[in-house]
Amino acid sequence: MPNLTTFADANASFDEAEFVILGVPFDRTTSFRPGARFGPDSIRQHSFNFESYDLETGVDLSDAKIHDLGNTEEFGSAEEMVRSVREEVRSVYAAGKIPLVLGGDHACSPPCVEAYPENAPSLGVLYLDAHMDFRDSYLGDRRSHGCSSRRILEKVGARNIVVLGVRSVSREEVDDNRSIGMSFVTAHEIAKEGIAAAVGRALNMLKTERIYISLDIDAIDPAYAGGTGTPEPFGLTPRDVKFIFDQAAPRLAGLDIMEVSPHYDNGNTSALAARLAREAIVRQLAARKTH
Ligand code: MN
Ligand code: MN
Repeated sequence: MPNLTTFADANASFDEAEFVILGVPFDRTTSFRPGARFGPDSIRQHSFNFESYDLETGVDLSDAKIHDLGNTEEFGSAEEMVRSVREEVRSVYAAGKIPLVLGGDHACSPPCVEAYPENAPSLGVLYLDAHMDFRDSYLGDRRSHGCSSRRILEKVGARNIVVLGVRSVSREEVDDNRSIGMSFVTAHEIAKEGIAAAVGRALNMLKTERIYISLDIDAIDPAYAGGTGTPEPFGLTPRDVKFIFDQAAPRLAGLDIMEVSPHYDNGNTSALAARLAREAIVRQLAARKTH
């Protein structure tokens, strides 16, 4: 698919950029409703809906140094996608920049974490998802979107990943995790204790210098983000995620936004994803001023 446009305010060259956007139009491991391959360009289109000036922080995104690499090519297998994304994102980290990756199904996230350099500051992962994604293999594929937290855990270690917002899990995943011990904060706990306490708890669990955020858009309630492959009720609000981005901003190493499947709503989910990508940049720039 050709690039219809670049992300709004992505006016910097790669060399001068601090934030680098990459689209991965891959959804071959989707298990229910397909279409996340259309996510990256739909999010880009909707990014033009927003003003570049941010009322809360005074940050103006037209001054931010953002580059859009466009989309990766289309792939046959998940393994091919993983190799290619890993390579693309590796060059972003190597140049000292923050990658913002737009999916695609959630299989596109592990290579973004695997690309993180070994000699860089320690990395933890905040994994926002309605689902645990903790199967060792799904339908014979270890690179399925149902296995992504597990692949990430294998890269960063069980102590350095926290799943936030989970509310759908198989008995097999729960049983496996008894011996592995991945931390998670459920959407129900967040509703009970409040987002501030829950996020504080999650960030305290991650003792790493830097944090990578993987946002499966289905972490957010389908009332706000119904344009996704596997919608799951009782989710987070957009404002919860905004707060998470703010709290993690000083330690942000990279971000991905996955599983936007634009044809299942009238554009609200793409607009929300675009706004959240912009929010992550704004909060990171604002954090540099105040921390
Ligand atoms: Mn997921
Ligand atoms: Mn999910």
